[in-house]
Amino acid sequence: MEYRKLGETGLEVSELSLGASSLGSVFRKVNKDEGVRTVHVAIENGINLIDVSPYYGLTKAETVLGEAISQVQRERIILSTKAGRYGDNSFDFSPRRIKKSIDESLIRLKTDYIDILHLHDIEFGSLDEIINDSLPALEELKKEGKIRFFGVSGLPLKIFEEVLKEVNIDTILSYCQYSLNNTNLLNIQSNVLEKGVGIINASPLSMGLLSNRGAPSWHPASKEIKETCRKAVEYCSINGIDITKLAVQFSVQNKNISTTLVGTANPENIVKNIKWINEPINYEQLFKVKEILKPINNKIWLSGRKENN
Ligand code: NAD
Repeated sequence: MEYRKLGETGLEVSELSLGASSLGSVFRKVNKDEGVRTVHVAIENGINLIDVSPYYGLTKAETVLGEAISQVQRERIILSTKAGRYGDNSFDFSPRRIKKSIDESLIRLKTDYIDILHLHDIEFGSLDEIINDSLPALEELKKEGKIRFFGVSGLPLKIFEEVLKEVNIDTILSYCQYSLNNTNLLNIQSNVLEKGVGIINASPLSMGLLSNRGAPSWHPASKEIKETCRKAVEYCSINGIDITKLAVQFSVQNKNISTTLVGTANPENIVKNIKWINEPINYEQLFKVKEILKPINNKIWLSGRKENN
């Protein structure tokens, strides 16, 4: 496992990290023991950053992760959670709710500090409120020692540029914008890095589009994106290629991205993912798969308020 600097935080994060949304049964029903075991196996195999949110499984993911954390040395984990999103259509980025949210997360996560706090899917809120009220509230929480670093997360890349123009943050968490079918993150990468902000890239499998199980029913991609990804998955399975392997290897290769968050609640999958990043990528297979994905290359769906896309 390689460790990379996360912006100017002083943190060294594992190039592959664990996304704990799966622990909240967002892709399939997961039992607590399986979730806890996945976290422990990830840590034992070198992963040091784990990301979660109160939204995932409507607090279930944080609760299961808290159980797992309580059984290991807290310092072994760079714990990243979020505030501001609490349901599919439930958002509150007010300082009062953010502060309450962090106190609730600390209880569920069985800890007294959070390493990184991201405001969750800020494109659903008013960027004025995020910049003028929510982020200053996080600065206060940093001074109080409840959080060590903070940033914002979301889908449209415009939100990161808007925030970075106005406020100093430590990290951004972008998802589905740097994988086999979409590398739009490259368009903002140098701007973000110049500001000393660390890049966390999530969803190398495009939230399941690039996996044999396929996209979950709630996946927001267009029919065209889903069908084209399906074709790539089918091509791979006929030709004995593991598309998940290619996808994980591809995302981790970009060294300007400090870490890639992959989601799973299956201990065997996390072991495979870690093993794969140490193996050389098969460029012939990569080019073939990228060729199939070409019609949808860099296509993304709308998320949140129209003005934030
Ligand atoms: P992902 O692209 O990591 O895909 C997850 C899916 O891939 C799951 O169905 C999982 O079972 C499957 N998978 C993982 N490893 C596999 C393997 N070896 N073989 C077969 N299947 C495998 O998508 P994700 O889980 O949504 O994203 C990862 C994490 O990133 C999340 O858990 C979350 O922490 C973070 N994230 C954050 C945001 C945000 O802040 N707005 C959005 C998306 C994701």
